[in-house]
Amino acid sequence: MVTEQNGMHADAPGSGKAWTGWRPFFVDHRVDESDAITSFWLRPVDGRTLAPHAPGQHITLRPTGEGAPAGHRNYSLSAPGDGRMLRISVKRDPRGAVSRWLHDHAVPGTAIDLLPPSGDFCLPASGRPLVLISAGVGVTPLMAMLEAVEPERRVAFLHGTRDGATHAFGARVREIAGARPGLTARVHYSRPRSADVEGRNFDAAGHLTVDAVAGQVPLGESDIFICGPVGFMRDMVTGLRKAGVPAVRIHTEFFGDFAVLDETAPDAAPALSSNAAMAAPEGLDPASIGAALLGSAADAVMASDREGIIVLWNAGSERIFGFSAQEALGRSLDIIIPEPLRARHWEGYHHTVATAVSRYGAGDMLSVPGLHKEGHRLSLEFTIVLIKDAAGTVTGMVSTLRDVTRRFEETRALKKRIAELEAAARPEG
Ligand SMILES: Cc1cc2nc3c(=O)[nH]c(=O)nc-3n(C[C@H](O)[C@H](O)[C@H](O)COP(=O)(O)OP(=O)(O)OC[C@H]3O[C@@H](n4cnc5c(N)ncnc54)[C@H](O)[C@@H]3O)c2cc1C
Repeated sequence: MVTEQNGMHADAPGSGKAWTGWRPFFVDHRVDESDAITSFWLRPVDGRTLAPHAPGQHITLRPTGEGAPAGHRNYSLSAPGDGRMLRISVKRDPRGAVSRWLHDHAVPGTAIDLLPPSGDFCLPASGRPLVLISAGVGVTPLMAMLEAVEPERRVAFLHGTRDGATHAFGARVREIAGARPGLTARVHYSRPRSADVEGRNFDAAGHLTVDAVAGQVPLGESDIFICGPVGFMRDMVTGLRKAGVPAVRIHTEFFGDFAVLDETAPDAAPALSSNAAMAAPEGLDPASIGAALLGSAADAVMASDREGIIVLWNAGSERIFGFSAQEALGRSLDIIIPEPLRARHWEGYHHTVATAVSRYGAGDMLSVPGLHKEGHRLSLEFTIVLIKDAAGTVTGMVSTLRDVTRRFEETRALKKRIAELEAAARPEG
């Protein structure tokens, strides 16, 4: 939706979605934030003013143009909107398709398409103290929050990274902290180099722990935002829950599984099978029972977000499709769809997301071909449930899939045999 503002075209503020569908942007300029993280400032080709987004939200990016990799990826917006450009900050995955392409090929003028900002990892208007905890490239949504938070609000910003070479936004955080008495910033380097000076570019050696966080703020009274590698988030969530922080005050963003430059860096912590399990406190509460059931289900249970990125992957999914949770989370559903069927699948998927109406009724059992990691075809029965927010907008889908390959093959063989018998029994001539 667009409105006229001061004689200029502008996206409608507060309209929920800044725009609909893919919108052409181009790279305005890029800034190296660390050895592996580069920021890309993106400007809409149509020149319209951009509606503000909620700090913490992400966009979905699709490379375009000749030689660009296929597929789309999510990137958190690392700065609050200025109405003209959006900033993303991307870590180069040496084996990754899109992040590597951005780093190696996206220069001022390079065209890309974006879906509008989305996600609910955003600042609450509670006025409570804020604790922003990140490791590695997980700092990106928290930078947008830090830049946008009201000056009078008490904030603790805690960040962990390997060393001065991997440390992004250090100077900017120090600048903000210097100008704001209510802000405490603390940075841990897990393996400082000899050039890194404690007390100047970092505050302590070793991993960022809950104890380090607890020393900074009254945890029980705060809204806590965590973003980083899954193992790091799991340790933080578990530690905070044990320290008595209610689950409702802990907000997490999961970037999916992607390779790291250094496997001993904090980013390399082991992956967890699902967001549901991550938030589940220990003990017999409904969340942990739900997570346990999900883990033990024979069927594949998976959830995908609006863009078709896998956000939940249970043990049944691992068994049926061969991808571990680590390999599947954060990837597109494309990994389990045979190539010739993908275009049709996405047409239906995006239509369902846009209209909030599924072609299928909940509980309908449908039979479709699927793809195993090893490349062989599967036959699947599945049912889907749409996840909607309070406004009725589709935020994702949960699918339950059953592997019926054997039954399908048996039925096919049986039909073939019947056809042969019928042909043999038919009188000649
Ligand atoms: C909400 C959200 C916000 C995000 N924000 C950011 C952000 O601010 N900054 C950022 O840098 N990232 C962010 N990400 C992660 C980002 O979306 C990408 O996942 C990341 O950039 C890697 O994408 P890629 O195309 O480079 O790698 P991909 O090509 O997706 O590969 C990822 C890894 O999987 C491995 N892989 C690929 N194919 C296979 C296969 N067939 N079998 C086994 N392994 C395989 C590759 O070796 C690689 O290491 C975010 C993700 C989400 C969900």
